[in-house]
Amino acid sequence: MGITSRLKHIQNNLPKNVKLVAVSKKRSTQAIMEAYNAGQRLFGENNAKELANKAVKLPKDIQWHMIGHLQRNKVKYIIPHVNLIHSIDSIKLLEEINKRAEKENKIIKCLIQIHIAKEISKHGISINKTEEFLKKSEKFYNIKIVGLMGMATLSKDIKEINQEFSSLKHTFENIKNENITILSMGMSNDYKIAINNNSNLIRIGSAIFEN
Ligand SMILES: *Cc1c(COP(=O)(O)O)cnc(C)c1O
Repeated sequence: MGITSRLKHIQNNLPKNVKLVAVSKKRSTQAIMEAYNAGQRLFGENNAKELANKAVKLPKDIQWHMIGHLQRNKVKYIIPHVNLIHSIDSIKLLEEINKRAEKENKIIKCLIQIHIAKEISKHGISINKTEEFLKKSEKFYNIKIVGLMGMATLSKDIKEINQEFSSLKHTFENIKNENITILSMGMSNDYKIAINNNSNLIRIGSAIFEN
């Protein structure tokens, strides 16, 4: 099986309301073009310069998603290209994005990353700070918060993963409205559990690009 068949297999089994981000970090332009030619248009990167470099080389109708931890001094590279930033974890980061977006006369769509995993190395704000964070983000006119993102603990314990996704699902259900509509959860190993917990945007790399 190649990229095209793995991608189609995943696509064909998704509920209609769930969108797929093909995580193309460290993948070649050739591999990305194979997914593109199979109809894929949403691609995710976790490195700002890599996203920018790929965006200038690859077809203009690709929607680039920034999914990894974003340093403030790297924001400038992605502003011209990015369609959605999944990894908002501080007000300072929002300030920088807002400043750069204002200069380019853009509104940047963002998700707040919520820390639901056991690993402290994972980024994100704590779940009980979500509403306070949302309130603070209202003053940034060049940013539109459209949802939440979370990563579960890297674990084989399905129950634990399910609990983590479920906690984010409840937070999302409490705050969702006409603007806040996106719940980004689920990767190659846990996306089915994420979809069972109302995820409507999954981020899949290895299950598409690796044999
Ligand atoms: C790499 C990455 C993914 C994809 O992981 P796979 O296990 O390869 O599907 C999803 N989300 C984030 C934030 C990532 O960094």
